[in-house]
Amino acid sequence: MNMPRTFHEAKAALASGKTTVVDMTRAALAEARARADLNIFPELFEESALAKASEVDAKIAEGTAGALAGAIISIKDNLCYAGHRVSTSSRMLEGYVSPYSATVVERVIAADAVIIGRTNCDEFAMGSSNETSVFGPVGNPLDPARVPGGSSGGAAASVAAGICHIALASDTGGSIRQPASFCGVVGFKPTYGRVSRHGLIAFASSFDQIGPLAHDSRDIDSVYRVIAGPDERDNTSSHKPFPTSAPETGKLSIGYYHQCLEHPGMDPEIKAHVEGWIERLRSEGHIVEPVELSMADLFVPTYYILSTAEASSNLARFDGIRYGHRTKDAKGVEETYRRSRTEGFGPEVQRRILLGTFVLSAGFYDAYYAQGMRVRRIIRDNTLQALSRCDVLLTPTCPSTAFAKGQISDPVSMYLQDIFTVQANLAGVPAISLPTGTHGNGLPFGIQLMAKPFHDERLLAYAREVFST
Ligand code: GLN
Repeated sequence: MNMPRTFHEAKAALASGKTTVVDMTRAALAEARARADLNIFPELFEESALAKASEVDAKIAEGTAGALAGAIISIKDNLCYAGHRVSTSSRMLEGYVSPYSATVVERVIAADAVIIGRTNCDEFAMGSSNETSVFGPVGNPLDPARVPGGSSGGAAASVAAGICHIALASDTGGSIRQPASFCGVVGFKPTYGRVSRHGLIAFASSFDQIGPLAHDSRDIDSVYRVIAGPDERDNTSSHKPFPTSAPETGKLSIGYYHQCLEHPGMDPEIKAHVEGWIERLRSEGHIVEPVELSMADLFVPTYYILSTAEASSNLARFDGIRYGHRTKDAKGVEETYRRSRTEGFGPEVQRRILLGTFVLSAGFYDAYYAQGMRVRRIIRDNTLQALSRCDVLLTPTCPSTAFAKGQISDPVSMYLQDIFTVQANLAGVPAISLPTGTHGNGLPFGIQLMAKPFHDERLLAYAREVFST
């Protein structure tokens, strides 16, 4: 076997001489090609991956290899990698080659990971099914007729299909956690500010966060330690010191939202699974208490008002003149803008730009954007208050398992996919989806845990020790 499933198994296989990084990279590239039907990779970075792999093998032989030597990684198609194409799965950025690397990309390469390619995603990371991509939908490796979730559908599928050990992706309202739940892998959104966003093509800057997906929390922890930490190129990145001792994982105090479980869209088997966990955790001696979830009905509307406002501003630069696709034969500036943007952006991105521009417009700013900001503050305060009384908050990650491609065509129903995940982005807290369940329909689903800001290390330790993931 030349492709161990996890990075920690890969490290052991390398140490015992059973494989090499070049072997694993070749195997990963071959597997990615063999599963071309899933449409995970718009592009494989074959040449740079193999060059890096032989460099890492040489470093291993010399004893100078970095912390991620042996890790085979994919990057979402919205993370810049110098000299490589990045398009955020949009026609707008077709053919664009990034002149610089995202900080996370720089850091994983410096730690000797091999990046094998860029993964398909919803256009500009807007979506929950990977169906808005200019490259077309991704198949869920567990059932290719179903979606892998979104927007990081290719990222989750690259891990679930056994092609990569780790995927780097972004999460603005659930884009790491919901695909992790649909594909049966772990997905982690760190605290806002813990991981630099430099080199992530922005969607909604006050929500966006880069994080990893992997088969288990141990691999998530390995990559988190490499990518986390301050960065002078992102002034929202935090300088808060890291914990110096290993987190304690004795008996926890766990809050759960009763209302989530009573939600009308909740799948009964997922509900029963979460209730089963609540009983099990109690019987293991943890304190598990219901927590009041105030304003839950406002989470999704607040997220969609504020994130579209930020998107309309972030995406204004793609006008065919400063950045992005330029239409042919337009007359004058206005026609160039209009036609370039109409041709370059797909319907979902256009819908969000229109919505965001509307909520920021002079006559409606106070009623929507300013009000949304006030509500966000209250949601954040309530979330932090709930977290001040417990170590973690537990919810299902999603109300259902992966749905069929083409099944959800109404945008509002698609937005409601984010019902349990947007709270962590509104509040800036760390959150993780753990693959704890398998449904009677054979598909996986996850439990989500949220923790206090900057308790990322503890959250990963709980995931590993208490939830055995
Ligand atoms: N599904 C959400 C949306 O469409 C979240 C996307 C994300 O986290 N990038 O906005």
